[in-house]
Amino acid sequence: MIHSVHHSIQDNLNQIKQELPPNITLIAVSKFQSINKIKEAYGAGHRDFGENYTQELKEKYQQLPKDIRWHFIGHLQTNKVKYIAPFIHLIHSVDKFNLLYEINKQAFKNKRIINCLIQIHIAQEETKFGFNKAEFIELIQSKNLQEFNNIKILGLMGMATYTDNKEQIKKEFLELKQLFDTTKKDIKSPIIDMQILSIGMSNDYKIALECGSNMIRLGTLIFGERKKEN
Ligand SMILES: *Cc1c(COP(=O)(O)O)cnc(C)c1O
Repeated sequence: MIHSVHHSIQDNLNQIKQELPPNITLIAVSKFQSINKIKEAYGAGHRDFGENYTQELKEKYQQLPKDIRWHFIGHLQTNKVKYIAPFIHLIHSVDKFNLLYEINKQAFKNKRIINCLIQIHIAQEETKFGFNKAEFIELIQSKNLQEFNNIKILGLMGMATYTDNKEQIKKEFLELKQLFDTTKKDIKSPIIDMQILSIGMSNDYKIALECGSNMIRLGTLIFGERKKEN
């Protein structure tokens, strides 16, 4: 689906950014990519990077400039939140109530507020994590949530089914957009402030943009194919 990229990282970034509508945040997904490749993107002026693994992220954080905004986009285990809590800019992949509880606790310890997105399961594949709609509604209406003073829920994240069927992808993204819009309209809470809809990866970001995405997460299109994959 994705062709290998032979241009420089800087060229790739410039080309993608040129074609993006205004007010779209581009996350450069740098999992499994070397420090040097990240430095190349940084040198081109890019500041938002996404990682999937806490250990890898922590090492990269230590080695790279401190004005990078790090996004956590992978499955996050509660016992690993502490490694990224001191510096993480946005956690996209909150998929359990217990995880929010732990993020709030670690944010408090670090005297900060951690911004979060709730991951919603929209794909047909069973393997993708996330709340379903009913669980999400239950979450945002729960009284316990209102006591989490060290987190802010800023929006939703989702991953469409990995398929060539554009209609299928579009249907899933639009479902999420609708949930985003109704929540934004209906929910009044100091903890919840719906601003961000994080949908779209290298193979489907153009569809995501048509469906109202304002944050896209691109790895392969920027850095080329990843060397290894879990
Ligand atoms: C790896 C990953 C991406 C980037 O994928 P590409 O297909 O390389 O653009 C985006 N989002 C999440 C959650 C990922 O795990």
